[in-house]
Amino acid sequence: MHTDHNTAWNNCLSKIKENVGDQGFETWFRPIKPINLEKNVLTIQVPSQFFYEYLEEHYVTLLRSVIDTQLGKDFRLEYSVVMDKGDATNQPYTINLPNNSSGYSGKKPGQKKGMSSMDLFGYDVKLNPAYLFENFIEGDCNRLARSAGYAVAQRPGVTSFNPLMLYGGVGLGKTHLVQAIGNEIANNSGKKVVHYVSSEKFANQFFDAIKNNCIQEFSGFYLKVDVLIIDDVQFFEGKEKTQEIFFHIFNHLHQSGSQIIMTSDRAPKDLVGLMERLVSRFKWGLTADLQQPDYETRIAIINRKMQADGIIIPDNVIEYLAYSVDTNIRELEGVIISLIANSSLVKKKIDLELAKQTLQSIVHDIDSEVGIDYIQKTVSEFFKIPVDQLKDKTRKKEIVMARQMAMYFSKEYTSLSLKSIGYHFGGRDHSTVIHAIQTVNDLIDTDTNFKKSVDELRKKLKMKGI
Ligand code: ADP
Ligand code: MG
Repeated sequence: MHTDHNTAWNNCLSKIKENVGDQGFETWFRPIKPINLEKNVLTIQVPSQFFYEYLEEHYVTLLRSVIDTQLGKDFRLEYSVVMDKGDATNQPYTINLPNNSSGYSGKKPGQKKGMSSMDLFGYDVKLNPAYLFENFIEGDCNRLARSAGYAVAQRPGVTSFNPLMLYGGVGLGKTHLVQAIGNEIANNSGKKVVHYVSSEKFANQFFDAIKNNCIQEFSGFYLKVDVLIIDDVQFFEGKEKTQEIFFHIFNHLHQSGSQIIMTSDRAPKDLVGLMERLVSRFKWGLTADLQQPDYETRIAIINRKMQADGIIIPDNVIEYLAYSVDTNIRELEGVIISLIANSSLVKKKIDLELAKQTLQSIVHDIDSEVGIDYIQKTVSEFFKIPVDQLKDKTRKKEIVMARQMAMYFSKEYTSLSLKSIGYHFGGRDHSTVIHAIQTVNDLIDTDTNFKKSVDELRKKLKMKGI
């Protein structure tokens, strides 16, 4: 028998994992925290009301069967929702949502997986109310996408940004941004029909519609929307029939002045398994990319997240996090959540020590980054220059200076010989490295601004523990 809620939930999770896609699992199950197991009730904590509703709406059958097999038929789930209104005056709070007597408020037993057109194509798909422009941090990495999105949100179907195609790697804010557009339109004008759908869901609906002979209803539904937001269109790759119907819907909507907004994990030209004529239409409007967040944006995102959770953490921890997690925003959020969770678990205030421990336990390859690569990365970020330029032949004054500083720190913080340091800087010889170190030492003595930069950089490098 299961003794604690963690084990019980982990057992459920491994079953769930077998039954949902990676993305579904990461989005809807990974963030769930088990918090209690008592008297046949397993309580799980979810991040928002929306989250709870989504689970109930989409995964109720799966959850029931997993609970049945892993815990027993007389067990039920209870949700605890952490409400996050997203600013300092609205502190998060927790409410318990008891289920109905069967343990679920979803479909009744015996009811087939929804085949009424209402279930399938209804307007009941909700936008996530937490995804707004207000809490979408703007930075160089996303400025164009954000402002195009904002323009579209103010005048859907009227600007020349139709379709609006946003692309970029995982966790960079595509879904957040397109849902923010949807929310903004819905809030500005209750009359407009805004429909958000993932391409995966669209494809599944279409498949069901074929199976059940109701393609008419399917197209009919989509042809009526004023704003169609379709997420992750790379999922259409290789699915010719789905592309055909989407092509048809796209043309119709475009002609009738409805707004189409799409996201993709790649630029349209790199979507190989898509029909040429579809891709060419994607380029009719505006295509904008979202890039990896720069340091300032990362700082702003951490600040914003902490503020939303009503948590105050020291600046050096914020800087440490921003320096250490630079891949994407989802990962950054994951680290922040773990850190907050850790601190409440060990009942310790968040400090640098705890941040390092937390990061080490989740980022496995942290050590591989340390060393000369990390020094080069840190220095180039600090001076806002591409890391490649540290290694190439550029003789521009500020590049030379950054390069010399990176060499200086490489000598100080690694055990590499002068020769191999030179090698890592585009195959320069050891006398260049000696000259660099000499120059930096001289400037530290004579130029106070320069010395300040060196000190700041040293602080950042030390935070990483190298
Ligand atoms: P994608 O769809 O590109 O994979 P998401 O939109 O799901 O990425 O973003 C991942 C997480 O990061 C979400 O929780 C989102 O709210 C957050 N996020 C992304 N970009 C920003 C931003 N610019 N400001 C604030 N939060 C962001
Ligand atoms: Mg997404």
